[in-house]
Amino acid sequence: MLAAMAVISLSACGGAGDKKNTAETNRETLFQVSLLQGLTFGDYNGSITASQLKEKGDIGLGTFDALDGEMIVLDGVVYKAKSDGSVEAVSDNETIPFSNVTFFDEDEKQTIENVDDIDALKDLLNEKIADKAGNGFCVIKITGKFKEMNVRSEYEQTEPYKPLATALETDQTFFDYSDIEGTVVGLYCPQYMKQLNAAGWHLHFISKDKEKGGHVLGLNVDSADLSLDYTPGFEMRLTGHFILIPKHHIKMPEAALPA
Ligand SMILES: [Zn+2]
Repeated sequence: MLAAMAVISLSACGGAGDKKNTAETNRETLFQVSLLQGLTFGDYNGSITASQLKEKGDIGLGTFDALDGEMIVLDGVVYKAKSDGSVEAVSDNETIPFSNVTFFDEDEKQTIENVDDIDALKDLLNEKIADKAGNGFCVIKITGKFKEMNVRSEYEQTEPYKPLATALETDQTFFDYSDIEGTVVGLYCPQYMKQLNAAGWHLHFISKDKEKGGHVLGLNVDSADLSLDYTPGFEMRLTGHFILIPKHHIKMPEAALPA
């Protein structure tokens, strides 16, 4: 369903000499389906198909209609990490209530080793992007060997949908892997995005054999290649579903309010 659709586009200012053509600009745009906050309040209705999403990017993360699993988009394929921890490539007509994708163009690469936990990884990533991401986004790939990988998925929901926090109380499934190879797909959103998405890092994992995956809760990196794609543009597609969010829950950030 694509009724009542609106598109908001924001783009960070380029320098005076920034003459990127449209195709290049689109590759440097983070595309977002709906609000994460819509999901928070129980809007699990898919509003865009997997094939439409792939027109907007070849890497990313998200979830599926009815909160049916965690999405990992890698190398142009949309994968679903299901509630039993297994992974499948989805059909083009599968629908999606929330996602972020972009086209991955590597701006930087380095090897990382012996990163003991997810907080240490986030510290490393924050330091890495501190001078470069600015107000923009950063999409990463971490491909290699992990000593530990702790992921979660969730059971498909039935209507009437419960708020996300309530659904996760009973319907999350957890999987802990040791000595596993694969790729973490990650998104960094700046702090000002916290009304539209989650600020900071959001990480999903898919194993090298494409059989295991989920939303990353913890990890221990043995040795891996970290690739970063700084992405200054932003495009968001809203749907009519956002009316489900109670008005009193939509608050402007205090800093943005007039004095
Ligand atoms: Zn997630």
